[in-house]
Amino acid sequence: MRITLQQTGIQGDVGEQKCCICRRRFHLGPAMCQAVDESNVLYGNVCPACVEQGPEHIRGELQYHAWWTRVIAEQETAAANEEVTDCPTLDELLAAETFYERAMYETCEEYDAALRRGEID
Ligand SMILES: [Zn+2]
Repeated sequence: MRITLQQTGIQGDVGEQKCCICRRRFHLGPAMCQAVDESNVLYGNVCPACVEQGPEHIRGELQYHAWWTRVIAEQETAAANEEVTDCPTLDELLAAETFYERAMYETCEEYDAALRRGEID
């Protein structure tokens, strides 16, 4: 894999983009770095933070995401092999939304605190 540097080709591409290395969003300006594999296939745009941290960081991020993708694929394969049971109807879902009106907690912090106190599981 090599990281290229060139002028951004299309003005419409300037703006928020997703880094193909770390998967974070970043602002793409009038110059861009792109990851290209050995077969000359474009992998995607590379953010300034990944460029700054260099080749070792980029390789580490790619290895991490490859590992994580395998974990997700294993979980999704296991889930796909299970039968789907106890599925509510759409009418039941809509009735529950009308009944509850709002979520249990306002923030993730409040939810996590309730979990720690054993109020929910
Ligand atoms: Zn990045």
